Order: sequence, then structure tokens, then C-alpha cells
Amino acid sequence: MSNVMADSSAPLIAIIEDEAPIQKFLQASLQVEGFRVVPATTAKDGVRLITQEHPAIVLLDLGLPDADGISVIKSIRGWSSLPIIVLSARGEEKSKIEALDAGADDYLTKPFGIGELLARIRSALRRAARPAAEGEDHTFRFGKVHGDLAARRVFVEQEEVKLTKLEFDLLALLVRNRDRVLTHQYLLKEVWGPGSANEPHYVRVFMANLRKKLEQDPSRPLFLITEQGIGYRLQSQT
Ligand code: CA
Repeated sequence: MSNVMADSSAPLIAIIEDEAPIQKFLQASLQVEGFRVVPATTAKDGVRLITQEHPAIVLLDLGLPDADGISVIKSIRGWSSLPIIVLSARGEEKSKIEALDAGADDYLTKPFGIGELLARIRSALRRAARPAAEGEDHTFRFGKVHGDLAARRVFVEQEEVKLTKLEFDLLALLVRNRDRVLTHQYLLKEVWGPGSANEPHYVRVFMANLRKKLEQDPSRPLFLITEQGIGYRLQSQT
């Protein structure tokens, strides 16, 4: 747990992962980057660790020996909004979606590179650092796009972009949750209402429209990012 390279003000990362090689790899890689780390290898120890050590962020394996990682997310979300990044195996789309719907912020599919992990951690820390009062600051900006959620106006540079009501609602939801992965189900429920669960193409069509109106190159979006098989994210910085 002690680490000569990290000072005590460095963000503390809880790593809940039972596979020893991955646990070691994560600890070593994050310490080199100047983070402090605390490890746990079971769901029970993980939850205890979080209540005792108050980490800035949690990396959570979904397959733990004593319980499902989803139960850890539900437990943490009972008292805390700290960022949770789920680590899951390839092909576990269903459990990734379940984890995101339970309140996880993001996921990585094993095996992942350390560069990708660090980018996700930085993004989650940025999101967590945004003051709660930002809820009252209804203006936003990503790339050349900026706007005002309260006034329902969106611009690309100086030019105002006309969005339909649903396009705007979808964009607003993504803006309010920027840098988080939002599942198809969540987007459908929030924008189209509870009766729309079986209409996943709505999201795809409206996302394509938003990209055409807001992205420089809609076929290679920089901000409105597809999470294959899972949903979408608004990446606020590129
Ligand atoms: Ca595991």
C-alpha cells in the first residue's frame, strides 16, 4: 500500500480484482503514474475498503469469488457517487450493461492497455471534480459545439444549429452525463419514455442526426461516441 513515488495528495484508487496477475499489473502501472492504490480481492473486502479509505475512484472486476460485482456497485451507490470503472471479460455485454444501469460510470474490456485505462481514469476524475453547483450552470462546450441547456440553444462556432425536441433532449441527457457511458435502455427510457424499450433504432437514428449536425466528420465522431453493443458516451475532451 505504501508507495515512495506517490505523494499523499495523489488520487487514491481502489482496485477490487481477484486475479492476482491483473491486480499486480494494475497496482504497478498506476503507481508508476503517480496514483496511490489500495487493493481488495473480494466483494466484501472491497466494500469495506471503500468505506474506510475513501478512494477517489474504484476499479471493479465483475467476477469476484464471494459475490457479483454488480452487488458491489449497488452497495456503493447506496451512499456514494464516487466513480466506478468496471473491468469485465470479452463477451460479457449483458453484465456490462447491467453494471452501467446499476450506476457504474464506465467499463473496460479485458485485456486492455494501460493507456486506455489511464484515459478512462482521468475522464472519471474530471467528471467527479466538477462542482455540484454545475447543475445550475446550464452552459456547455465540447470542441466547436457550445450551448445553453436552459435556453435550449446549440451552436457550432458562431452558427446556431436547429435541433428537434427529441434531438435536443438526447443531447441534453448526454451533456448532463458527459464522459459516462449511457446504455441504449437508459437513453430510450429517459428520452422516449418507458414504453419505448423495444425501439433501440430510435437512439441510433437520432444519434446519426446529432452527429450530422454537430460533428465535423459524422462518420468519425470525436465527441458522440458509440460503445459497441452497449450504448453511447459524450466525450467532452479529445
Ligand atoms: Ca475475477
